[in-house]
Amino acid sequence: MFEKVLIANRGEIALRIHRACRELGIETVAVHSTADADAMHVRLANESVCIGPPAARDSYLNVPAILSAAQITGADAIHPGYGFLSENADFAAMVEEHGLVFIGPSPDHIRMMGDKVIAKQTARSLGIPCVPGSDGPVGDVESAMKAAEAIGFPVLIKAAAGGGGRGMKVAASRGELDEAFRTARGEAEAAFGDGRVYMEKYLSHPRHIEIQVLADSHGHVVHLGERDCSLQRKHQKLVEESPSPALNDAQRREIGATVCRALEKLGYRNAGTVEFLYEDGEFYFIEMNTRLQVEHPVTEMITGLDLVREQIRVAAGAPLSFTQENVKFLGHAIECRVTAENPDTFRPAPGRVTEYHPPGGLGVRVDSALYAGYTVPPYYDSMVAKLIVHGTSRNEALMRLRRALDEYVIGGIETTLPLHRRILGSPDFVDGTYDIHWLERFVGLKR
Ligand code: ADP
Repeated sequence: MFEKVLIANRGEIALRIHRACRELGIETVAVHSTADADAMHVRLANESVCIGPPAARDSYLNVPAILSAAQITGADAIHPGYGFLSENADFAAMVEEHGLVFIGPSPDHIRMMGDKVIAKQTARSLGIPCVPGSDGPVGDVESAMKAAEAIGFPVLIKAAAGGGGRGMKVAASRGELDEAFRTARGEAEAAFGDGRVYMEKYLSHPRHIEIQVLADSHGHVVHLGERDCSLQRKHQKLVEESPSPALNDAQRREIGATVCRALEKLGYRNAGTVEFLYEDGEFYFIEMNTRLQVEHPVTEMITGLDLVREQIRVAAGAPLSFTQENVKFLGHAIECRVTAENPDTFRPAPGRVTEYHPPGGLGVRVDSALYAGYTVPPYYDSMVAKLIVHGTSRNEALMRLRRALDEYVIGGIETTLPLHRRILGSPDFVDGTYDIHWLERFVGLKR
């Protein structure tokens, strides 16, 4: 097992990884920008190294500084968390070249799934059902038109290098294709330095359902069920739950087994999430994330398994500590992502937290690096907390979430807590009859 792990991240996920390390008896090294000198992840870690100025490209994305920090402190592995360098295949390869272990999949698998065109081709060849679409990138308006007519309107144009919902444009009809194609390509070029785009059938009322997997280097692949992440705004998830109100046990077992078979063939290792859109009883692959996800606690709450601990163990060469048969799904879990934003306009609202009282009690978990007196810096992602609840049934989880949201006090800054309280008050959410478009209509409603 490792003796010391460097955590190449910040905020709640850096704390989450620190906790898993400490329970395994592993020392931790925090890295931080000058803006994060007072951050909780720095306070709790055994050691810390300042790796640069506030801008992420100079600190949390600064590969030479992070590798030097690992070497100076004598760390033997690096956990990248999510975001930042977590899906950067070159970084993973460099970590290994420096004689350290990257706690994640192989650089080859990261690279393969990071290119969505290749990811889809790979998924299809492994027997995973995909959204109907162009088989490869579409290079110009003429071939885009041909592809769109073959697929049938409406179509969605997506960036091959995509992520975070950027470079995605819908064309409802022939007349809209030209502009949608050019805009998507321009956005993709600007956001990723890679203007390649591909096309998919635009599904009108799907749910976003993703399958969590864990794999070791001894050929074992196990799935931990699904998460329903259909509550999204601008293709960004706000609320996640498991199990999905839309699936039954047989469907869960079947899609889980399909995913495990495919990843076994691929020789995948560590944690991964295979994302699907689910419409009218059918699953359609959209992408695979080769890292820990923000919403992983939902899975931990219903399985009782520590995903980060398993990531660390399998990266150290140990076999998974359980088999598929050992995985039991118990009750229901829901997560709310709380961001430092105005709950109506979503304008970022960084600043000083004057008062902080997280909720507690049975079945309540808060993953956050906030504390009273902390100043949320303006430089990074606006998510400041994840509130996760567990109940024996979905109904109990909803009651508990409502209670926990009422208890939660974050003073001094605006947050999306009021929006979450509103969502919880909506009959559609309570019934579980929502799709990926529901939340945008809901936030657009006049109150
Ligand atoms: P990104 O990597 O940018 O997050 P994804 O491919 O994971 O992109 O898609 C993000 C979200 O965009 C999905 O959860 C879904 O809400 C929406 N989306 C993606 N593909 C389609 C599609 N073919 N039809 C309708 N919505 C889609």
